[in-house]
Amino acid sequence: MIPYSTQHITDEDIAAVVGVLRSSFLTQGPAVPAFEQAFAARHQVPHAVAVSSATAGLHIACLALGLGSGDLLWTVPNSFVASANCALYCGAAVDFVDIDPVTRNMDIGQLADKLAAAELAGRLPRIVVPVDFSGLPIDILAIRQLADRYGFKIVEDASHAVGAARGSRAVGSEGADITVFSFHAVKTVTTGEGGMCTTADPVLADRMRRLRTHGITRDPAEMQQTPEGPWSYEQLELGYNYRLTDIAAALGQSQLARLDGMAAAREAHACRYDALLGGSGLTLQPRRPDTTSSHHLYVVELPSHVERAAAFSRLREAGIGVNVHYYPIHCQPHYRTLGFDWGQFPASETYYRRCLSIPLFPAMTTEQQDDVVSVLLKQLEQPRRAASN
Ligand SMILES: *Cc1c(COP(=O)(O)O)cnc(C)c1O
Repeated sequence: MIPYSTQHITDEDIAAVVGVLRSSFLTQGPAVPAFEQAFAARHQVPHAVAVSSATAGLHIACLALGLGSGDLLWTVPNSFVASANCALYCGAAVDFVDIDPVTRNMDIGQLADKLAAAELAGRLPRIVVPVDFSGLPIDILAIRQLADRYGFKIVEDASHAVGAARGSRAVGSEGADITVFSFHAVKTVTTGEGGMCTTADPVLADRMRRLRTHGITRDPAEMQQTPEGPWSYEQLELGYNYRLTDIAAALGQSQLARLDGMAAAREAHACRYDALLGGSGLTLQPRRPDTTSSHHLYVVELPSHVERAAAFSRLREAGIGVNVHYYPIHCQPHYRTLGFDWGQFPASETYYRRCLSIPLFPAMTTEQQDDVVSVLLKQLEQPRRAASN
């Protein structure tokens, strides 16, 4: 089976992990801050806070920005459930903004309209979570303008977008209050499980560092009581154990050093797909001028005469590990118990019924890609007429 995505692990990655295993610290040692600094430098941002997953990162990003019960967070239906669940963890409510059918990212026109209506109704969101779907950066500066006008905070879910850029600015370096990245094994840089929160705001960075480790400080200047000795620490608020291990951080830093090469390979594969699949009747991955996608996913939309479920099965049977991203969040049973249902966000729903993620990973061979293309194109052939002439 050619997987839709797979990790790229080298001998250097393995040596980096073994180095930590042979050292004194498996966690809370020097590898985490070293990885944070390397990630911050690569993403042109002052602060990077490593966490145990992007899900954990989204949770503490929302907490650091003050999301709580009675508040509202808006995101898109076309994402992984974690983009919305972070609101529920904080006791806040969720609502959605539909996607732009071309970019498959949040429709900023609809966001503006919904904000205007919400202002009149006195129910503005405290946080908006746009997603850089497939690694294609959303127009974050347009959302920033709306944030400044309506007073909400932006947590950008850049789980797909490690290494993506707008012009010469890396995703994570501008626009959002906090940007969250994922290092899950299928993502473009991996630590097995892991994530990173970036911000330009030192206060938010400190708050997230505290929240990822139980709300505890060891800094006497932050303590409310006089420290009784060098062993003293204080829990100032309720936090979690959302730390990344040094083992994982060493893998991440080693992977990060190869990011440019892995991104170039993904870009080359995506360009080749564009060329081989263009004009076939498939709707291809969009491009935005002046942006660099990280190409975490390569998603095609099938034309309406092709039944997705049948095409999916035939591709899988032929050894092509296709996948579907995403079943709309608002249609998940848990969200339906909260009052959402099919029909509310039609662009996300229509997109979902046609989409297919096809294999894309750095080490993919030309042969594998040709295989994917030929089986995929076969699915587009018109059904044969019963009586041929
Ligand atoms: C993978 C992913 C997440 C969650 O990432 P984890 O690191 O697995 O917690 C969140 N949002 C999106 C869009 C994702 O793709």
